[in-house]
Amino acid sequence: MLKRRATILGATGSVGQTTLNLIKAANEARDAEIEVVAVTANSKVDELAEAAIACRAEFAAIANPHAGEELAARLVGTGIKSGAGTQAVLDAAAMDADWVMAAIVGAAGIEPLLVAAERGADIAFANKECLVCAGDAVLAAIKKGGGKLLPVDSEHNAIFQVYDFDRPHRIRKLILTASGGPFRERERASLAEITPAEAVKHPNWSMGAKISVDSATMMNKGLERIEAAYIFPTPKEDIDIVVHPQSVIHSMVDYVDGSVLAQLGTPDMTIPVASALAWPDRINTPAEQLDLTKVGRMDFFPADEEQFPALRLARESLDEGGMATCVLNAANEVAVAAFLKGHLPFLDITGVTEHCLETVRSNHAGTGLAEILATDKLARDRAWARVEELAQRR
Ligand code: NAD
Ligand code: MG
Repeated sequence: MLKRRATILGATGSVGQTTLNLIKAANEARDAEIEVVAVTANSKVDELAEAAIACRAEFAAIANPHAGEELAARLVGTGIKSGAGTQAVLDAAAMDADWVMAAIVGAAGIEPLLVAAERGADIAFANKECLVCAGDAVLAAIKKGGGKLLPVDSEHNAIFQVYDFDRPHRIRKLILTASGGPFRERERASLAEITPAEAVKHPNWSMGAKISVDSATMMNKGLERIEAAYIFPTPKEDIDIVVHPQSVIHSMVDYVDGSVLAQLGTPDMTIPVASALAWPDRINTPAEQLDLTKVGRMDFFPADEEQFPALRLARESLDEGGMATCVLNAANEVAVAAFLKGHLPFLDITGVTEHCLETVRSNHAGTGLAEILATDKLARDRAWARVEELAQRR
């Protein structure tokens, strides 16, 4: 039987909740024995306490340093220990779980991820921004610790399931599928008045706000290209993107003999999370089974970098290397946050990111954590300044 001691970083989020629900279902079905060591969240005290109690976690950490007393009060009598502040989240990552779900959103997840990776935990990898921003440091930490990198992003999980790691030279290309987001069929100019509520409504997947906006701009697929370049030993030039609106094929590997291997399934994150939890075994999940007769047809289109300039920005920053992808990620995080708060029009999200890529020149040569965090800060400050500048012009 599958046995794991699991920690969930970002337990109150979309992926975090999917993970906890799966663990509960697998334990109840006696398909696995998963103990939850620690759960963490940013600021939602009630949700975190509820999650910690439901999965009988040993420790709950809230990043907001002012929420410690409230969290402790909610956990009185449960035997669950708690802590608040960034150090508490790092303490959670340092505990002895052998499997850590990295499901914090954004570069805020880097340090806890590095702590878990360096001590040798297997990392279930949802938090793509960490790889985009600090890919070398993350891979070095996993190598040092000796744990496995288990991709959770559905595309990368799909590729992972059909990738021949013993013969990467027999792979011609990776094909990442993209749903195209909610605005696939819209003229770019018609997106000027898009509201946050419209942008977060994804046609196929139910996800957190930031990744939903990234799907609408298609920056998500750009970030995923960079993520794939770090995870798989296939050259970055050989990573293609194809739009597949039904989201049934989650990605493919094209081999030199002409065989193309794909992983299919309903669009439910439970499936890649289960794959990462049980790998190389498999477990039952409550996910809806794929019925191809109901799907009926599958369409494929080329990805349009003119309609979705975020795809071009991500590709160019991957080509440029160095700190470019760190700047791309930080600027995009700020631009998306500004859009979600109503401070930036939808079409300016990629404009702010492009401005930062053109103007932020990091004088940090290394790729160590200190340099990455300094560049990340530089890009964030520039992005916020740009958001204000654009607001004044309107
Ligand atoms: P979400 O917004 O629903 O949840 C984010 C989680 O991170 C929450 O638990 C939140 O409390 C925590 N968090 C946010 N800021 C934090 C901070 N500063 N410090 C500590 N914790 C913080 O996001 P999500 O949709 O679950 O996505 C999580 C990650 O997984 C993202 O990187 C996303 O790109 C990736 N991902 C998500 C999906 C999906 O279906 N939702 C699919 C593939 C990849
Ligand atoms: Mg994805």
